[in-house]
Amino acid sequence: MADNEKCVFCMIASKRIPSNPVYEDEAFIAVLDINPASKGHCLLIPKAHYNSLYEAPQNVYLQMMSLARAIGYALLISQGATNVDLIYTQELIKGNVTPHSIIHIIPRYKDDTINYTWQPNKLTKEELEAIANEIKSAIEKVKEGEKPVEQPPQQKQAPPPPEEKPIQLDVKPVVF
Ligand SMILES: [Zn+2]
Repeated sequence: MADNEKCVFCMIASKRIPSNPVYEDEAFIAVLDINPASKGHCLLIPKAHYNSLYEAPQNVYLQMMSLARAIGYALLISQGATNVDLIYTQELIKGNVTPHSIIHIIPRYKDDTINYTWQPNKLTKEELEAIANEIKSAIEKVKEGEKPVEQPPQQKQAPPPPEEKPIQLDVKPVVF
């Protein structure tokens, strides 16, 4: 299913690069990050190469989020994490020119060293309203089916989306 010869995540998905999988089905593989931000840091990788979140069909995206939640819960109960951060990225390794839509699943612990920082900006009420209006109008366009991102011309046809499959992780069902 992997379709990009030069992409490190396609190579992981097709086992051309060895990894430590924690979950695998026909459409996805989740592996331990070899440079983890914290103990149990996983990468959820669609086996099909999507350059971005916006290329993946809706049902693939929903399945990915559902799996990320299940794996996150598995991290809570198996690793003693207190929380789990989900980070979406198109490009993991600096200098890697081939993006592949993946989700980082990062367990958080009381004593971890993860620190997301930014300088909080001060905006006026008018500025906030203007930004909110821009986003609201963009959401309407997206809902109407306008593609938010131009597709690259050389992009290969994405394979058909996988069939809906219940997640089979050996954990108690949980209501979120
Ligand atoms: Zn890829």
